[in-house]
Amino acid sequence: MSKRDTLMHHRVRVSETPPGIDTVRLLLEAARYLGETLEPQRVYERFREMVAEPIPHDGLTVASFDPEDGLIRCDYAWIDGVAIDPETLPPVPFQPDGGGMQSQVIKTGEPFLTNEVSERINAGGTYYEADSEGNVRPLGPDEEPPAAKAIMMLPIKHEGVVVGNVQLTSDHTHYSQEQFELAEGMVAQLGASVRNARLHQAVRAEAAARLQAEAERTELEAREAAARAVAAEREDAARVLEALGEGIAVVGVDGRVQVWNRAAEIVTGIRRLDALGRRIDDLFGGWSDVGESVPVAEPGRRPRSTAVPVLVLGRELWLSVVAVESAAGTVYAFRDLTAERHLDEAKTDFIATISHELRTPMTAVLGAATTLLRDDLPFTEAQRRELLEMIATQATRLGSVTEEVLLASSLDRDEVQIETESVDVEEVIVETVDALAPSVPDSISLELALGRPGPVLGDRDRLQQVLVNLIDNAVKYSPDGGLVLVSTARTRSSVRVAVADEGIGIAPAEQARVFDKFYRVDSSLTRGPGGTGLGLYICRGLVERMGGRLGLRSEAGRGSTFLVDLPAA
Ligand code: ADP
Repeated sequence: MSKRDTLMHHRVRVSETPPGIDTVRLLLEAARYLGETLEPQRVYERFREMVAEPIPHDGLTVASFDPEDGLIRCDYAWIDGVAIDPETLPPVPFQPDGGGMQSQVIKTGEPFLTNEVSERINAGGTYYEADSEGNVRPLGPDEEPPAAKAIMMLPIKHEGVVVGNVQLTSDHTHYSQEQFELAEGMVAQLGASVRNARLHQAVRAEAAARLQAEAERTELEAREAAARAVAAEREDAARVLEALGEGIAVVGVDGRVQVWNRAAEIVTGIRRLDALGRRIDDLFGGWSDVGESVPVAEPGRRPRSTAVPVLVLGRELWLSVVAVESAAGTVYAFRDLTAERHLDEAKTDFIATISHELRTPMTAVLGAATTLLRDDLPFTEAQRRELLEMIATQATRLGSVTEEVLLASSLDRDEVQIETESVDVEEVIVETVDALAPSVPDSISLELALGRPGPVLGDRDRLQQVLVNLIDNAVKYSPDGGLVLVSTARTRSSVRVAVADEGIGIAPAEQARVFDKFYRVDSSLTRGPGGTGLGLYICRGLVERMGGRLGLRSEAGRGSTFLVDLPAA
């Protein structure tokens, strides 16, 4: 057992000196050895190791005094051979007038030694004793006597100010004056070393704090930079989105539109303000089918585009749609395929049509020619002539189909030569009708109603080509007993030629499309008269190049009227 805190009023000097202590050597060693380490705990341990031999002890404690809160705290405690956690020992309040031994040393700055501990206790005051388990018990005249016989209490000073104390206790021996002086010198050395170590720790802590602060600042800057980069990226992305030719719709998990770019407005005709926040399946009729047929690519995977029909504002649109999953929802990129789709359909139809259109006359020509070549058949002159006429007619038809295809492609390449001359429309009409009359079936009457509109500006041959086509169609699509009427009229600055029939008519939805390349209302080969679907495309192209317009008025089942308006000469 050893004292940790005792109260003494007098400083006692002990005169007998055990020989054999080489104070100078020990102090030099302490200076070197204690200063080597920068860990305060290590300094305390080394100090204890060094004093063990010259100053045998049962207890050694080091305490520091904090004038701020007036508490004396234990920094190191070694009791009966065991280092105990100094934290387990309660701090002692500094009482300058109370006369406690620690308080006394701190107050006076003078070291203190007693070899008569019990006596001092019994003389009055407050005493505590701690054991190696960290238990603290009070001492006093009525308590169990203390184990310690001798105590040394030495101040630790810094620039003359007491900052703590060291206490050495012995349960067995008395301490000599020489030991006391040695302890005093060594404690001075201990104080210096601890201060060094503490300073070093403080510097290190400060450096660590500075590093930490720097790291935090760097991290903050990095985060700010990243945030700025993200914002810039967003801005860029938004700009890119706007400039994209593809419609972009971002649809959140709730099925509502979050992003709708300019191209999406153009493709669908739905304005951004009307699209944002709306459910995508409200905007696109048949969207649920799209959801099913368009595969949604996981992030990082290559998306596949799928062509799907949707209904937008009452129109059917063919969209090529790509879908990608993103954090914000599903991103749909779409392109309007409607025109390509129609052209594709028409091309497919055209190939079927054109091969039919070519094969039919070819078969007739071939049949007639091989028949004529047969020696075994006795042909009359009339029969021979009939076969030759058939060859001529079919060859002409072949020629005109080929001609149409070539003309359409010349128009596409803008390679058609168009004259601008004064043309007497009525003369051209009469000529054309005369030429066509022989091939018009008897069941259809072809009539003229000429209004003397005067000449037009245009290309005579091209105008004839247009009229042939329109009259031909009118006859082709007329029922038996039908009337085809070609009329002229003068409007203010132009001349109008109308080709009217009482045929099957053209439904409103088809009216714009009949002028498309290759388009035929009923492309099934078995029904209806043949054709390439190029006639009206060519007619419109030619009329427009003459500075005119080709229009259509029709009612399904009630006939059609094609209107050619040309500038008056
Ligand atoms: P085609 O060679 O098939 O006649 P056109 O371009 O001249 O090609 O006509 C395109 C389509 O328009 C025709 O296939 C037909 O369905 C329709 N059409 C043209 N003229 C008439 C008409 N007078 N009456 C009804 N339908 C017509």
